[in-house]
Amino acid sequence: MFNQEIINKFNAIPSPFYYYDIGVLKQTLQKLKEESDKYGFVVHYALKANANDKNLSIIKSYGLGADCVSGNEIKKAIECNFKPEHIVFAGVGKSDAEINYALDNNIFCFNCESLQELEVINKLAFKKDKIASIALRINPNVNANTHKYITTGLEENKFGINLWELGTLIIALKDLENVKLIGLHFHIGSQIMDLNTFKSLCLRVNEIQNWFSIRKIDIQHINVGGGLGVNYHEPDAYLIPDFASYFKLFKDLLELRPQQIVHFELGRAITAHCGTLISKVLYIKNGVNINFAILDAGMTELIRPALYQAHHKIENLSKIQNSTSQTSIKKYDVVGPICESSDCFGKSVSLPETLRGDIMAIRTSGAYGEVMSSAYNLRDRVKAVYSDEI
Ligand SMILES: *Cc1c(COP(=O)(O)O)cnc(C)c1O
Repeated sequence: MFNQEIINKFNAIPSPFYYYDIGVLKQTLQKLKEESDKYGFVVHYALKANANDKNLSIIKSYGLGADCVSGNEIKKAIECNFKPEHIVFAGVGKSDAEINYALDNNIFCFNCESLQELEVINKLAFKKDKIASIALRINPNVNANTHKYITTGLEENKFGINLWELGTLIIALKDLENVKLIGLHFHIGSQIMDLNTFKSLCLRVNEIQNWFSIRKIDIQHINVGGGLGVNYHEPDAYLIPDFASYFKLFKDLLELRPQQIVHFELGRAITAHCGTLISKVLYIKNGVNINFAILDAGMTELIRPALYQAHHKIENLSKIQNSTSQTSIKKYDVVGPICESSDCFGKSVSLPETLRGDIMAIRTSGAYGEVMSSAYNLRDRVKAVYSDEI
């Protein structure tokens, strides 16, 4: 991903910044499209993973829809030319203003998470003399086997409608004349690496579909959410996620009714690998048992390590070309400048001897990186740089 020419250019750009490799993004989208089109699957891009205008426009150009979790995300999607009829709106806490905004723009579907929410959407739609299309976000009680902060499909999580609530909900829904049930929605978590987890989801979806069929309730679409993980340890070996196996699994296992369409909401798998956080080493500090490489990027630019103990591959780009030379390998705790002990990108990371001024790459940062950046410590907001613009 990085040749000497790009690394030289990085030298001249004030750090830290996010570097997006547009080629990688396009390759990823190309493969995703190829594999999902085989089965007529509809893919929505989850804006919350990366909502950069330029990236969004490219994603849109490959024909993806948008998965939004706030009114501002819907606004952003529309600004980047996603068609409202390709926008879905999820989230446990949709405000009245956000619902009204979505109604005014005639989005494709509200993914609803409770009866109370359905009642509010019904009331607001009634006031506008509209019928809101809705899907029920059902909590399938499937364990995503991922970090607990990014697990969403268990009964103990705040997301979705629990299975035992469905009976009452379906009866109540009959009286809500300004909402129309068109789909069932599931999203069990993020960074799911074991496809067996999606297999469990499919089997549960089939059971739930049967429940609706017995009650003669017609469901137009099944939305299985997102969550496909990426390889943070070996990004170069697995730059494009295995979309072929992923989509085939749903094709093979979901028992669809005639005309039923399957929707997906992928975020991380689309944008993670194309993004890298580029930073320079400010200081090398020798500790008692370990050396610290103190970077000019910190948890304000990329919070995932601090928030989820997430692993990101760290490379010293200044030393990448002469890896054959005699530079010795040393271990470093790679840390940021923020006044928090959790501001650490990696502990005991083996790197070629690293010096002040070296350019460091924190790989696979394109998803849940820039979007989660903050101004804590009154830091400047992190900038973005694109491979086709430098
Ligand atoms: C976050 C989220 C997604 C995307 O998850 P990824 O793991 O990035 O694919 C999809 N759907 C919903 C409802 C979400 O909240």
